Amino acid sequence: MAEVKSLCVYCGAADQVDEAYRAAAVELGTRLAGAGIELIYGGGRIGLMGRLADAVMRAGGRVTGIIPGHLHDREIGHHGISELIIVDNMHERKRLMFERSDAFAVLPGGLGTIEEAFEIITWRQLRLHDKPIVVVDIVGYWQKLQALIDHVIERGFASPRSRGLFQTVDSVDALMTALAAAHEPVLEPEAKLI
Ligand code: AMP
Repeated sequence: MAEVKSLCVYCGAADQVDEAYRAAAVELGTRLAGAGIELIYGGGRIGLMGRLADAVMRAGGRVTGIIPGHLHDREIGHHGISELIIVDNMHERKRLMFERSDAFAVLPGGLGTIEEAFEIITWRQLRLHDKPIVVVDIVGYWQKLQALIDHVIERGFASPRSRGLFQTVDSVDALMTALAAAHEPVLEPEAKLI
């Protein structure tokens, strides 16, 4: 596949969380700017989302935020980024985030992050796209999600091949390495089936 020039990052809107998670968001923002990769995200100024976007801007990178009008006040639409797009609803937000991104990363987050991550993973399962998806497991945050997926596979509701729909890394550094390697297809052709 082509070089990753834009990365959609799903992450939490909460801020009262372990410093390791906040630091990872800042590190990722700085690294994206350094690598010339545009950040595509939900457009809020709060939580990890805000820290991530601020870090990209501070380091001279480019950020596009996409936020529905009804969330603009609650998540405080970020007007200090390169482009803030206000859309009509969540579906439009997710569609635009998908279209504008070459790859996806999942940082620690809450229910919204989980919903967005599973949607993009299942869209890949349905072969609606073949863009890389990387789950960033900072200090083991996503291990229980991994255990849930293992359980689903073990009970026969998903194929073991569905593990190949996304990669898991344990640091921002490893995420950047995975993105750089994403020129190569992440999945073997036969691993794409459900
Ligand atoms: P959270 O991970 O719950 O802190 O939410 C992170 C982001 O996900 C926020 O920008 C939420 O607006 C967004 N979000 C929450 N619910 C959904 C959903 N059902 N679909 C897509 N995004 C969502």
